[in-house]
Amino acid sequence: MKTKVLGSSLATLREWSVSKGKKPFIANQLLDWMFKKGESDLTKMTNLSLEVRTLMQEELDMGTLELVREQESRDGETTKFLWKLPDDKLVESVLIRSGDRRTVCVSSQVGCPARCAFCASGRQGLIRNLEPHEIIAQVYQIDLWLKKKNEAVSHIVYMGMGEPFRNYESVVASIRYFIDPNFLGLSQRRITVSTVGVVEGIERFTQEGLKVNLVLSLHAPNQKLRTKIIPYAREYALETILDAMWRYADVSGRDITFEYTLLKGINDGIEQAEELARLLKGKQCTVNLIPYNPVEGLRLEKPHHTSVEEFRQVLDRAKVINTCRYTKGDDIAAACGQLAMQELKNVV
Ligand code: SAH
Repeated sequence: MKTKVLGSSLATLREWSVSKGKKPFIANQLLDWMFKKGESDLTKMTNLSLEVRTLMQEELDMGTLELVREQESRDGETTKFLWKLPDDKLVESVLIRSGDRRTVCVSSQVGCPARCAFCASGRQGLIRNLEPHEIIAQVYQIDLWLKKKNEAVSHIVYMGMGEPFRNYESVVASIRYFIDPNFLGLSQRRITVSTVGVVEGIERFTQEGLKVNLVLSLHAPNQKLRTKIIPYAREYALETILDAMWRYADVSGRDITFEYTLLKGINDGIEQAEELARLLKGKQCTVNLIPYNPVEGLRLEKPHHTSVEEFRQVLDRAKVINTCRYTKGDDIAAACGQLAMQELKNVV
């Protein structure tokens, strides 16, 4: 199999050069073109000799993905990218522009094993894990796309399709790549991993020595309601998940965020707000409330504006810091939880 450029360390690429009887420095030149000059086309890397370019073309695989479709929301704040993988599977990423921020929401799997009741991504279950370079390519190619407009990716969130901690090795490899100064060199605090609560994943992640942001998709203040909304939640007691999250906060020094998708009549009542306030009172954390984004075919409803406000007031009174994320990109089905294979199949 050809060596993949995206996802390979500088050392690996330098060893490859030497194994082909070339100077190791050509690997630095290659990466300089790809990441500093924003050029991924080998034929345009003019300070490499024709012989080296031909060798690279024949023996290396860039690891980039085929862009099938690119779709911009009406307000121009969100762009959805649809990629075709080498085995013809499809995956999506979303670019969100907000002020100076250029955030890429990446997918870590095709499909998802979590099967949250409100989310389109898990409706077919898990199809397959993404390889490290398939996660990296989503960000790299959007960064190249932005560079043409003199912009660059500033933040990455692992909130696209898939459960990051059920594809642990590839996700961690991609994070290490994104923060490496040889590649994107992003600051760790600009990277956020969102998990449904895979305890062994959270515990292992705590040992990595990384300081990225960690988010738990909570969606309910107790185990009983949580398992109704997230079938996967049966795997672990909520208490055990929360203990693992607090330990990550201690070790990494990063504050924890909880995502709570508000579903009308299910988890958006005063009773749930009060229970959530009791659960998190006095803890260093933020609750990010996300009103449900309608997914076709699901019999769930958006919460009333007033119940969202009342929910927030309960949290405010208990001094539980909270934010409310209003939808971006829902007109192109690029909002949270709207990335779905089913829908994609009809597109291409
Ligand atoms: N598997 C990971 C990463 C996926 S991102 C996780 O569960 O955290 C998941 C986030 O998208 C959830 O926290 C949820 O808040 C949000 N989400 C998914 N579907 C949604 C929908 N239909 N409406 C609003 N938010 C949704």
